[in-house]
Amino acid sequence: MTETVCDVLVVGAGPAGASAARQAAQAGASVLCVDRRHRVGEPVQCAEFVPLPMLPYTRGRGVLQQAIRGMHTLLPSGQGHQSPFPGLMIDRGAFDRALAARAVEAGAALWTGAHFQSWDGTCAGIWRDGTLHRIRSRLLIGADGPHSDAARLLGAPPQPCVQTRQYTVPLAKDYPDTDIFLADDYPGGYGWLFPKGRVANLGVGADRALARDLKAPLAALHQSMLDRGIVRSEILARTGGAIPVGGLRKLVWRNAVLVGDAAGLTHPITGAGIAAAVLSGECAGNATADWLGGRTNALADYAEEMHEQFGPSLARALSRRAALKSIWHTPRAREDSVMRSGWIAFDDYFKAPLAAVDA
Ligand SMILES: Cc1cc2nc3c(=O)[nH]c(=O)nc-3n(C[C@H](O)[C@H](O)[C@H](O)COP(=O)(O)OP(=O)(O)OC[C@H]3O[C@@H](n4cnc5c(N)ncnc54)[C@H](O)[C@@H]3O)c2cc1C
Repeated sequence: MTETVCDVLVVGAGPAGASAARQAAQAGASVLCVDRRHRVGEPVQCAEFVPLPMLPYTRGRGVLQQAIRGMHTLLPSGQGHQSPFPGLMIDRGAFDRALAARAVEAGAALWTGAHFQSWDGTCAGIWRDGTLHRIRSRLLIGADGPHSDAARLLGAPPQPCVQTRQYTVPLAKDYPDTDIFLADDYPGGYGWLFPKGRVANLGVGADRALARDLKAPLAALHQSMLDRGIVRSEILARTGGAIPVGGLRKLVWRNAVLVGDAAGLTHPITGAGIAAAVLSGECAGNATADWLGGRTNALADYAEEMHEQFGPSLARALSRRAALKSIWHTPRAREDSVMRSGWIAFDDYFKAPLAAVDA
């Protein structure tokens, strides 16, 4: 057993953890960031789209893959809807590694292959290379994704998640837009085709309680894209993963905070969470440095800022999920108007009355 002392222990070196580690280290804190993965960002579990304002974060080598012009949404009737939705397709592994490299440049220590297992309020147990390391830290940042061990050890209940399954397939031709498929085949989620140069990420997400098998709907979506001459049959890579859809959790404890997916900041309708992970990580990193410097309100201010910045859009998305929950696997799920009220590309999404959502 070994013992290490630091100001801030960051669990998870994804976009949230790397951003938090960088900000805290830049402000002078001694930071240790641990990730159970042996290589940051691998395996990639992502459709790899970020909105255009994320451009400054995509400067790392090999990160930028393709510009996206807009979003094409296909409704159950087969009617399509084109909307401007500029963004960027990234190599998510390279993106995560670039963020982690910036954290290390700022002075944070990074341990990969390091599994965070326990936390008693001041001391963490990290399992690495067959050895248990005790890490004494003044503050803990939980940036360990949808099934956050940090959140569990702090006493937070598990958050609801949507399950996903994705293939990477060759594109038969250049593709400028992201495609979104709204249908009862993907209850509580949707299908997507996100082009990335010569390939595309083709995937489906759904509520596990309503759709246990994602293999068949993904195979059917792949076949329909093949029939339309958009993609080729080869499957280059397979991935998947959980997306939190419960909205904001408790964010702050006495000397601990949650960020990114661990904090429930992922959008419960679109599943987008990279931008929120980076922004929450930066904000939490700054707040922890302030807190270590004696500003006792800094962590509470972090929570307040997250609620202000993300609260309204998360609340709307939760309301839309709640409204759609009762219509899946009923004839209403085949009505375009119903799907329109539940998807961000349509005015109806922003205009329809908000449903009450259980906290
Ligand atoms: C299939 C799929 C497609 C998606 N597509 C998009 C998209 O196109 N655009 C978008 O914006 N969002 C997308 N998302 C969501 C996005 O990936 C997440 O919101 C984002 O990764 C959140 O970043 P994070 O740093 O909070 O968590 P993560 O990226 O999940 O990072 C958490 C890190 O913590 C580590 N970890 C976990 N537990 C421990 C432990 N006990 N000890 C040590 N380390 C631990 C993990 O290894 C991981 O590296 C998608 C998600 C999925 C599953």
